[in-house]
Amino acid sequence: PQAHQKPHLAILPSPGMGHLIPLVEFAKRLVRAHDFTITFVVSTDGPVPSKTQKSVLSALPEEIDHVFLPPVNFDDLPEDTKVETIITLTVARSLPALRNIIKSMFSRFGSVSALVVDLFGTDAFDVAREFNMLSYIFFPSTAMTLSFFLHLPILDETVSCEFRELPEPVRIPGCIPIPGKELLDPVQDRTNDAYKWTLHNAKRYRLADGIMVNSFLELETGAVSYLTKSEPGKPPVYPVGPLVNMEPSTKADESNCLTWLDKQPHGSVLFVSFGSGGSLSSEQINELAFGLEMSEQRFMWVVRRPNDKVANATYFNGTAQNESSFDFLPNGFLERTQGRGLVVPSWAPQSQILRHGSTGGFLSHCGWNSTLESVVSGVPLVAWPLYAEQRMNAFMLTHEIKVAIRPKVSENGIVEREEIAKVVKSLIEGEDGKKLRNQMKDLKEAAAKALSPNGASTKALSEVVGKWKNKTCN
Ligand code: UDP
Repeated sequence: PQAHQKPHLAILPSPGMGHLIPLVEFAKRLVRAHDFTITFVVSTDGPVPSKTQKSVLSALPEEIDHVFLPPVNFDDLPEDTKVETIITLTVARSLPALRNIIKSMFSRFGSVSALVVDLFGTDAFDVAREFNMLSYIFFPSTAMTLSFFLHLPILDETVSCEFRELPEPVRIPGCIPIPGKELLDPVQDRTNDAYKWTLHNAKRYRLADGIMVNSFLELETGAVSYLTKSEPGKPPVYPVGPLVNMEPSTKADESNCLTWLDKQPHGSVLFVSFGSGGSLSSEQINELAFGLEMSEQRFMWVVRRPNDKVANATYFNGTAQNESSFDFLPNGFLERTQGRGLVVPSWAPQSQILRHGSTGGFLSHCGWNSTLESVVSGVPLVAWPLYAEQRMNAFMLTHEIKVAIRPKVSENGIVEREEIAKVVKSLIEGEDGKKLRNQMKDLKEAAAKALSPNGASTKALSEVVGKWKNKTCN
């Protein structure tokens, strides 16, 4: 072992850009504020690492290294296997490779204080234990979802039907009661393996030495207060958020998004995006296009090719569409909205767009990173959840935090153009929009305070770091 003084940490993100991105922010903070060196152990989002994965990882400071795990074979799984099953099995099947990587980290760095996993990575705790490392979870979603995970083993024992069939809303400790049908995808069908794996991970949360959650007290007051109270069997929870990447990208503004925004009036543009994996059906894209047109508002829309099967179609390869042909949009749409709307193919510099003064609203799938980026930019939302825990987020943002309007979905499962036009208009120029915007402004300030040198999130992170540094000294 070399005489390497800096404490070292291993981070194992589960597959998906939405998981990698917040862990990268977390790692950067540890390097900057606490002098850590870090190794990311990354599963590839396909047979080879994706372009998006590589571009994120190669832009990291030199204190943050990364190693790719060999691809995992899933030939034995049926084609309709759900994403939560795939994610959990990716981790489970990578344990032998992880063991070798950790071993070589020990010989290179002398000691590795802790292993940090995210949502579905708890199987890796077994490897951490073999090496006498601490096991931590970085929970990249809401305190509400974390509280749900910790509560799930009890719900599983006390509820015998599907949660969506419960006549009363589900009571998650510290949270607003929520209808069962709004709970996260993998618990919507308890007979599916995705439920089994979610429960498996949820039960193992109690084995963690601590859980960091990407949220803060003022944003989720009830859930954060509950989680930070100590309780037998519940690991200590540290609210360290909002950790989001708001630094300007060093890359050129390829899609011209920012130069286009420069030319628009203050607070006038609705940004429309469904995250790294979200996609809409052809019919829904059509309605959205007409809805945006009818709203008469300015917009910037990150458009993906329609997918008529699954809402998370591009989950494992954020950059599925490279071509910029928009032949699936309604006839004449681009011409009719020219000047007032900008359509961007597949990927846009989202955090910078949200921070731009011309952006006045965000029509979002309510992925938690997107939501936090909106919070730190003070931009109110149109909540359009698609998959994962996004309905829970939308429910909370609309009914509890009150920073979003949620359009009604009609009986055929489609959000219709009139409804879209109505909510967009109301968000950008209506009285309702004004109230939501004011609430967002308060949260933006609270977020900045939480992250300031004496803020609660900074202190929570220092507390965890103290434990890791102690471990290194032992
Ligand atoms: N993102 C981006 N450009 C895009 C789409 C997504 O920069 O065109 C980033 C976005 O800023 C966020 C992340 O990808 O940091 C998406 O994470 P989120 O949790 O919102 O959703 P997910 O992709 O996991 O569904």
